[in-house]
Amino acid sequence: MSKILEIFNTMEYGPAPEAPDAVKAWLDEHGRKFGLFINNEWVTPKGAKFYSSINPSNGELLAETTQAGQKEVDAAVGAAREAFKTWSKTPGVTRARYLYAIARNLQKHSRLLAVLESMDNGKPIRESRDIDVPLLARHFYYYAGWAQLMETELRDYQPVGVVGQIIPWNFPLLMLAWKIAPAIAMGNTVVLKPASYTRLTALLFAEIVAEAGLPAGVVNVITGSSSAGSMIVEHPDVDKIAFTGSTDVGRTLRKQTAGSGKKLSLELGGKSPFVVFDDADLDGAVEGVVDAIWFNQGQVCCAGSRLIVQENVAGKFIQKLKARMEHMRVGDPLDKAIDMGAIVDQSQWDTIDGWVKTGIAEGGECFQPNIALPEKGLFYKPTLITGLDPAAATVQEEIFGPVLVSLTFRTPSEAIELANNTRYGLAASVWSDNINLALDVASKIKAGSVWVNCTNQFDGASGFGGYRESGYGREGGREGLFEYLRPTWMDRPRPEFVLDEKKKWGEHVPTLPTQPTVARANGHSLPPIDRTPKMYIGGKQVRPDGAYTSSVLSAKGKLIGQVGDGNRKDIRDAVEAAHAAHVAKPGWAMRHGYNRSQILYFIAENLDARNAEFVKRIVEMTGRTQKSAQAEVDASVERLFTYAAWADKYGGSVQETTLRGITVAVNEPVGVIGIACPDEMPLLGFVSLMAPAIARGNTVVMIPSQKYPLSAMDFYQVLDTSDVPGGVVNIVTGDRDHLVKTLVQHEDVDSLWYFGSAEGSYHVENESAANMKRTWTGYGLPRDWLDREQGEGHEFLHEATQVKNIWVPTGE
Ligand code: NAP
Repeated sequence: MSKILEIFNTMEYGPAPEAPDAVKAWLDEHGRKFGLFINNEWVTPKGAKFYSSINPSNGELLAETTQAGQKEVDAAVGAAREAFKTWSKTPGVTRARYLYAIARNLQKHSRLLAVLESMDNGKPIRESRDIDVPLLARHFYYYAGWAQLMETELRDYQPVGVVGQIIPWNFPLLMLAWKIAPAIAMGNTVVLKPASYTRLTALLFAEIVAEAGLPAGVVNVITGSSSAGSMIVEHPDVDKIAFTGSTDVGRTLRKQTAGSGKKLSLELGGKSPFVVFDDADLDGAVEGVVDAIWFNQGQVCCAGSRLIVQENVAGKFIQKLKARMEHMRVGDPLDKAIDMGAIVDQSQWDTIDGWVKTGIAEGGECFQPNIALPEKGLFYKPTLITGLDPAAATVQEEIFGPVLVSLTFRTPSEAIELANNTRYGLAASVWSDNINLALDVASKIKAGSVWVNCTNQFDGASGFGGYRESGYGREGGREGLFEYLRPTWMDRPRPEFVLDEKKKWGEHVPTLPTQPTVARANGHSLPPIDRTPKMYIGGKQVRPDGAYTSSVLSAKGKLIGQVGDGNRKDIRDAVEAAHAAHVAKPGWAMRHGYNRSQILYFIAENLDARNAEFVKRIVEMTGRTQKSAQAEVDASVERLFTYAAWADKYGGSVQETTLRGITVAVNEPVGVIGIACPDEMPLLGFVSLMAPAIARGNTVVMIPSQKYPLSAMDFYQVLDTSDVPGGVVNIVTGDRDHLVKTLVQHEDVDSLWYFGSAEGSYHVENESAANMKRTWTGYGLPRDWLDREQGEGHEFLHEATQVKNIWVPTGE
């Protein structure tokens, strides 16, 4: 009786432990030793090395798992390749049945999965049971639907092939679902490598999938260290790499796959802002912070780890937050009544602690509540560091632990500036009771997911992924499908090139005067009136900075014009102009689609008015027939019409997530795009790339065909008469790779499209790793620009946009 009274008076939670017995029985059944899961069978290589999987909450050895080597990776890729032959041909409706069966089977084993996840990773059972595992099943149900619909809704696409998938340890099951479900739904087969700290649930998952009857080889699970991951990445028979993990490893993978023709999607780190305005429900926002940063011990890529509070309520808010922190419960992950479990590994614990020490050294004031931690196990208190400078390393770098830093702001524009003051762009939370303000801020924060008055919302129906150094590609939703698809007309690119080690890529000696093979024949003895096109930057014709010129010869070797030989400075000026046109108020991106479409129609109209002149120019430059040149000009006009049409029809969609409210997927422009055009079709190639980019609100720096630049130079006169604001389209002529090198290294260029050589494509992809720019390269392979699918398919719009999902709860 006195005990009940005591509990009533203190209102303390008692322990509510989840039993580990079923997990232990499963581990025992496997003799606490696991092989690799290849072709629906357990494979233990001869002389295999093992790795100990440890429960981080108590240090207990859970099981030994295999360290795969090259032979095993080859076997898994081989199994996936073999299975691809039939799985890719299996009708979508049949694949849907399999995904549905997997989802059902996952639900049947949900408790086992949740308990094992908590034991292996250290996360609270409340989270693995109520978030990770339900979302795991949800993704398979969601993508079962897309498998069903693929043949009707995605008929211009085919699967990519064998996909290598590498995942981190913070959401082992969820990350696996994000990757495997869309991949196999679209007819791909998979080799998955879980992170070393958390290998066990992927192995249990493999068994559950096999039990559901998935054909052998469709899903293979390889355990191993980072070197096994690297072997998957390097494997010539892998067609796509899907990676989730740190930005540094993402960078390595970008370099490793450069020039290979493998598709690559990268879901990387973050340092997401959590913005609180003075009119927000402060108590609600405090609960939001708890979910944002202490969910999964803060080991969340999109954790709201930078609190940005309006100055006039900051004191009050921090006080409330500290009071709430005093009531947080840290303890046994299997206790249903705890808020935070264990940190995944000692090394991660040390990293977190190191960051807290750095924060203090940087002048921050560190607060940790006076709460008890279990004596044994890797536990860390929820931590708040205030008083840091926005440039402090602790504010800028991802800590990946339960550590929140806080800053203050006065005005909405200051809040946006602080929120965007990061190299990352994964997610953000905005708290305000003023819907206009909240949505305005949401639209201006550069991040793939923005949660309004909520945080850490996920669902199969909504894409997730980053801007900037948080990576590229989306997982989830319809947008997540495109990572696992290739247009039907396109084979896996297998570019062939030999790297010229002696010549530094992009090096260029300014061009000297050219001796035409045929003397000028202009019909009389006077020299012709000179018309040397200049660069086109910021809406003005400007002379090349270096004052060098290169000659353009006709197909017959006759001098037909001269163009500026651009250099680094010209590119920098062009990027500056493009950047200014993008961010100016109202910038190009902020114009409504109707206005952009009108301008594109106007360009088409003015191009058509000079149709004959452009035909003549193409014939003169390329030596092609009049008919062929005419087809190119007509197609260019038509293409402008296509993108005038798309300018107001690709804004995004409403996602049907499980949120009670609205989730809107907005197709935002990427920003400043550098575009190196192909030589095949000097006008059509230029227009086909410029038009989708500007239709969707990007500004561009165009490098026209190096061989045939004159059509593009004639084109700027068309732009000049078509109301295109200065800086939206900038044109720099010269040596393609020399100019591209500066573009790809430029911090203010958000994406690079390159349709030059295979070797150039390699360099572009390789150099892009520096700031994780998006790239789109042609690998020097032929593309029929006249063909509608190849010259104006969905791919172009996809490359011209990035999806931001804004989540707005409604109702109670
Ligand atoms: P990590 O060190 O980058 O490792 C991720 C995965 O890559 C692991 O499986 C790892 O294997 C493997 N790996 C490491 N080096 C490799 C290499 N050179 N080649 C091929 N594979 C390699 O990241 P983590 O510490 O596991 O996870 C934390 C990071 O993931 C954080 O930065 C977090 O923000 C990010 N993350 C991002 C998202 C997102 O959706 N954007 C979601 C979750 C997490 P081993 O474990 O065997 O070393």
